[in-house]
Amino acid sequence: MPYRLRDLLEQNRRWAEGVEASRPGFFTNLLQQQEPQYLWIGCADSRVPANEILGLLPGDVFVHRNVANVLVHSDLNALSVMQYAIDQLHVRHIMVVGHYGCGGVTAALHNRRVGLADNWLRHVQDVRNKHRGFLDSLPDDDARLRALCELNVLEQSLNVCETTVVQDAWARGQSVVTHGWVYGLHNGLLQDLEMTIRNADEVQPAYARALAAVHLRRGGSAPSALPSATRLANPGET
Ligand SMILES: [Zn+2]
Repeated sequence: MPYRLRDLLEQNRRWAEGVEASRPGFFTNLLQQQEPQYLWIGCADSRVPANEILGLLPGDVFVHRNVANVLVHSDLNALSVMQYAIDQLHVRHIMVVGHYGCGGVTAALHNRRVGLADNWLRHVQDVRNKHRGFLDSLPDDDARLRALCELNVLEQSLNVCETTVVQDAWARGQSVVTHGWVYGLHNGLLQDLEMTIRNADEVQPAYARALAAVHLRRGGSAPSALPSATRLANPGET
């Protein structure tokens, strides 16, 4: 729905007045510090805004978003967000949030060229290729897209767990729990993919359980030989 820019500024003024009216001092209190409990790593899609979906106000969730909610070990932007969130803000939960109907995942699934983002979406194609046998066994493209949206969350969650930032936090005993969720554009609901990980020892079994659940949800049987939970190679790695 198109808005004139001055309408947006007016809406912002009314929003700020409403927040201040319901919670006097809200903004001046936020000036002092931010103490978010959550780091949200999600897709840049305009239909998946972190705060609104969670029903949270400014100050409650630290957010990093990019096309197709990708977390790769060479992305200094994402790693810097994670490091600041964990080391400075002491967030307790990191949620990797994908969504069904993701345009980036769709392009990756079908080798659709969209421009410069093709290079970014290579990371999602790596996920597709890792699970190609399972995806090919599904009955149609809708099922394959839903499955790849879920698998991408699992693999990016795995990448989060294997960053030095999270590994170091766990090693020093800091409480950081990672989660993998997927959001339904059609109903506004988040689904927990049950890849909840509290320490380094839980990474492999949580990945195996969550992956088996993806297979079962899509009507298949749990894989007898699970793909390794080792992270996907970064470009340039051998
Ligand atoms: Zn998306």
